[in-house]
Amino acid sequence: MDGGDSRGKSFGEPVTQPDVLIIGGGVIGSAAAFFLTRAGNAGHVTVLEPDPLYSQAATPRASGGARRLFSRPENIKMSNYSIPFYENFAEHCTVDGEAPEIGFKRDGYLFIVPPEGVGIIERNHALQTSLGVKVDLLDPDALKRRFPAMNVSDIGAASHAPEDGCLEPNGALQGFRRKARSQGAEYLAEKVVGLAVEGTAVREVTLGSGRVLRPKAVICAAGTWSADIAAMAGMMLPVEPMQRHDHFWECRVEMERLPFVKDLNGLGFHNWDRGYAGSVVDFGVAAGHNWEVDHGYFQRVVWPHIAHRFPVMEELKLRDSWVGHYDRNRLDGNMILGNWPGKLDNFFVACGFSGHGLMHAPAVGRALAELVLQGGYQTLDLGRMGYQRVLANEPYAESGIR
Ligand SMILES: Cc1cc2nc3c(=O)[nH]c(=O)nc-3n(C[C@H](O)[C@H](O)[C@H](O)COP(=O)(O)OP(=O)(O)OC[C@H]3O[C@@H](n4cnc5c(N)ncnc54)[C@H](O)[C@@H]3O)c2cc1C
Repeated sequence: MDGGDSRGKSFGEPVTQPDVLIIGGGVIGSAAAFFLTRAGNAGHVTVLEPDPLYSQAATPRASGGARRLFSRPENIKMSNYSIPFYENFAEHCTVDGEAPEIGFKRDGYLFIVPPEGVGIIERNHALQTSLGVKVDLLDPDALKRRFPAMNVSDIGAASHAPEDGCLEPNGALQGFRRKARSQGAEYLAEKVVGLAVEGTAVREVTLGSGRVLRPKAVICAAGTWSADIAAMAGMMLPVEPMQRHDHFWECRVEMERLPFVKDLNGLGFHNWDRGYAGSVVDFGVAAGHNWEVDHGYFQRVVWPHIAHRFPVMEELKLRDSWVGHYDRNRLDGNMILGNWPGKLDNFFVACGFSGHGLMHAPAVGRALAELVLQGGYQTLDLGRMGYQRVLANEPYAESGIR
C-alpha cells in the first residue's frame, strides 16, 4: 500500500490521510505500527491513542510475564517468536543509538498442579517439547530439590521452563512506539467515535475532534475498549474488561530466587525488584471497568495462598496494591485476531488477550502486518484464533493453567 491524500482535514491541524489506521497505541497497536512501518510498503501509518500517558491502558499495569507454557500450539509458537524478540529488543528498537530498556530477566516459569492435574501437565509437556520448548517435568521431590522453600505436600507435578521470564511492560510499549515513530508512524492523541461501513469495508473513521479519516485498512487494538469500537462497524466481540488486582510485597526471610509461579487457583507471582509482584486472579469477577482497589483483597485472598505455598512468607510486608483490566474473551480466554470474513474486509481486530497480550505482542504485531500488507499469514498460521470461531461458538481454550 502506498500513497495517502489529504481529504477530510476539516478540524484543527491538517492530518495526512492514513493508509493504515491503528486504533489504540498500547503494546499491541504499537507493535503493529512497528512491523508495518518496518515493512516499508505500508504507506502512511497513523496510530490513534487518546491517552498518551496510558493512565488506563492494560499494558503498563501488566506483570511482565512471558512464557511458553501453553497448551495451544499457536500460543506456544507465538511465544517461541516473541520471547527471543524481547531478549533482543535493543537490536530491533534502538533509535538514534539509544537502546530501549526492558530489563528482560530469564528467571523462568513454574506451573504447579495437584495430583489430579498431572495428566494435563504431562500432555502439555509433550506438546511443548515437540515445539522446541525447554521445559522440565518435575515430581514433588525434584521440585523440592529445585525450590527448597516451597511446600510441595499437595503438589502432583510441576513444569519448569527455565528460559521463560519477565520484562518491563511500559519499556516494551515505549520501545515499540518510539521505533515506530522513527520509522514514520504518526501518533494522534485522538479517539474514535464512529465507523462508517460501505459494502464490506470500513470507509470512514470519525474522531472525537470531528475529523474524518478514510484509511484503506483499520486495525482495532483498543484492549478493553475493543468491543465497543468493533460494534460501531457491526462486529460483535465477546470481549469485556475484567478487573485484576496486583500487588507488590517484600519478605525479610532470605529464600531462593523464584521463577514466575502459577497454579490452577489463579495464583501467579514472581520476584520483582527487591520483593515479589503478583496476585490470585479472580476469573469470576463481574465484567466492567472498576478502578476501585479492594484493600482487603491481599490479606483475604492472596496472602493465604502464598503463605501456604511458601511458609516463610507468613511474614511479609505488603507495599502496594493496584488494579488493571484484562480484555477478557469470555468465549475461551484466547485472543481474537483478524477480520470478519466476507463481511468486513479491511477491519482487523486484535483483542481478547485475557492476560497474554504483552508476551505475544511481537508475534501479533508481525501477524497484523502480514494480514494488512499481504492479505494472509506468512510466517505463522493463526487462523484458529480468528473471528470465525466466535461466530461458530467454538471455544478454543487453554487446558490447565490459563
Ligand atoms: C494486572 C495485569 C497483569 C497482566 N500481566 C500480564 C503478563 O504477565 N503477561 C502478559 O503477556 N500480559 C499480561 N497482562 C495483559 C496485558 O497487559 C494485555 O494483554 C496487553 O497489555 C494488551 O495490550 P493492548 O495494547 O491490547 O491494550 P492496552 O494497553 O489497554 O491499550 C489499548 C489502548 O486503546 C486506547 N483506546 C481506548 N479507546 C479508544 C478509542 N475509542 N480510540 C482510540 N484508542 C482508544 C486506550 O487509550 C489504550 O491505550 C496483564 C494485564 C493486567 C491488567
